[in-house]
Amino acid sequence: MGRPLGKGQFGRVYLVRTKTRPAFILALKTIYKSEVIAAQLEAQVRREIEIQSNLRHPNVLRLYGYFHDEKRLFLMLEYAANGELYRQLAKRGRFSEKRSSRYVAQVADALRYLHSKRIIHRDIKPENLLLGLSGEIKLGDFGWSVHAPSNRRTTMCGTLDYLPPEMVEGRAHNNMVDNWALGVLAYEFICGFAPFEDKSGKGGTFMRIARVDLRFPLGISNEAKDLISRLLRYAPHDRLSFDGVLAHPWIQCYAKAS
Ligand code: ATP
Ligand code: MG
Repeated sequence: MGRPLGKGQFGRVYLVRTKTRPAFILALKTIYKSEVIAAQLEAQVRREIEIQSNLRHPNVLRLYGYFHDEKRLFLMLEYAANGELYRQLAKRGRFSEKRSSRYVAQVADALRYLHSKRIIHRDIKPENLLLGLSGEIKLGDFGWSVHAPSNRRTTMCGTLDYLPPEMVEGRAHNNMVDNWALGVLAYEFICGFAPFEDKSGKGGTFMRIARVDLRFPLGISNEAKDLISRLLRYAPHDRLSFDGVLAHPWIQCYAKAS
């Protein structure tokens, strides 16, 4: 058992190495059963573990296995050596269009894969993206958040930043919520703040999302604005598909050369 990597909602995450050779490095996430029970999230946690252990994609955090003792559940997770993308974004303020484009492509590819398996992530945001050894995106935390608002932003400030109009308006939603969130993510990468943030608080953000009050600061490329505008559409069926995202000029122009 090595150093703690972070603190989760129900326990800590540790860097660990297997006792058996060859040594294998992974992240061990501990979850206190009593706290899951207290939060009435047993069925949810069970289902999400089931889902995540069946996923295989280079940009989706692998769940290799799990075990438990009387008190705790232990999830054997792929180790994301470069930590949280959120921290990188906070440190740099915002990312270059090239870096943003590459991250957006990786998230789009991961989401296309999830949707092909009929899984909606529903909680795409920088806090739920980790970075692998080569700086590649590792998407984690799936689906939990619908039932368990667990991340920093929801618990600390309760912002609506990544929610689409259909969700803030309390209507039915489908997998296109993830396409919307990808547009918000792309915007936040490039600009350093979310598109519908409002100084007056939740009510203001709510109104801006419902009206799709999208404005760009100066200095953003037309290609980036075009892609973001195609994802941030009021009607879910009008939003660009992930195939469309991956074929878009703003993604293609940074896809090849380093
Ligand atoms: P939160 O409410 O903070 O989202 P959570 O219960 O969802 O908590 P995680 O987000 O999975 O818990 O883990 C908490 C922190 O531990 C992460 O923010 C991250 O810093 C670190 N961490 C988790 N999993 C890994 C991993 N596989 N590799 C590296 N670090 C990790
Ligand atoms: Mg988390």
